Amino acid sequence: MVAAEATVEELARELSSYLDTNRINQVRRAYYYAEQAHEGQMRKSGDRYITHPLAVAGILADLRLDHQSLMAAMLHDVIEDTGIPKDALAEQFGEDVAELVDGVSKLTQIEFRSRAEAQAENFQKMTLAMAKDIRVILVKLADRLHNMRTLGPMPYEKRLRIATETLDIYAPIANRLGMHSICTELEDLGFSSLYPMRAKYISKAVEKLRGSHREIIEDIRGKLQEKLEERGLPGRILGREKHLNSIYNKMKFKQKSFHEIMDVYAFRIITDTEDNCYRILGAVHSLYKP
Ligand code: MN
Repeated sequence: MVAAEATVEELARELSSYLDTNRINQVRRAYYYAEQAHEGQMRKSGDRYITHPLAVAGILADLRLDHQSLMAAMLHDVIEDTGIPKDALAEQFGEDVAELVDGVSKLTQIEFRSRAEAQAENFQKMTLAMAKDIRVILVKLADRLHNMRTLGPMPYEKRLRIATETLDIYAPIANRLGMHSICTELEDLGFSSLYPMRAKYISKAVEKLRGSHREIIEDIRGKLQEKLEERGLPGRILGREKHLNSIYNKMKFKQKSFHEIMDVYAFRIITDTEDNCYRILGAVHSLYKP
């Protein structure tokens, strides 16, 4: 995990667990290039601008992405914010990296006239870009995640627009790509920006129940495990608490209060065949009424 006050050397240390020295040095070089390009620019928070691309690269390093994605992360706002042309990046860092940066910039440039149009058009462009190089989307998702983490100092209107877009477009894309932790964080951040009071209410209520829930989840998990073993059924049991956004959506769609939503936790059992799936369902029903 790369912290807010991270340096490129801390990142380099993390990278040494999976990249060779030559590649790490290329990432370093992209960092210094971006640092110079953004010289004098600040984030709304008052931090130097370069802290943002560095944090984006950090998110991608946690996902163990390749050195070109990390270089593109470092450079992702250079075309857009400093006027350095794509050609110059290609000369310095090669065609691949320049293409990635260009792809991310193009996604960023999409301006929305209406919400309906925004969704359709954005999805289309996203898909097009994705077909060309999926790494463009990954850099963009990491960019969005860091912007959501640092949304606080933005003006209200902008915060709402970014949060809405995050919930409507980016969280679902993360979900489709199987990046569940990024999806969940985007949803929780988006939800608390859009509905701060509701988020506070729900997270307080969840917090209150959390202690007892952990025990309940463990207890149920144990019983399920026992039952599967007793019947000789192979299955991996995962128990989890639901997140703010999914609890809230359920309250909204089913018009229920927090206390009426019984399933603040959920279980998932993964097995090998369809046949075993039905057998396991039977075993679960022998324990709990459907
Ligand atoms: Mn950015």
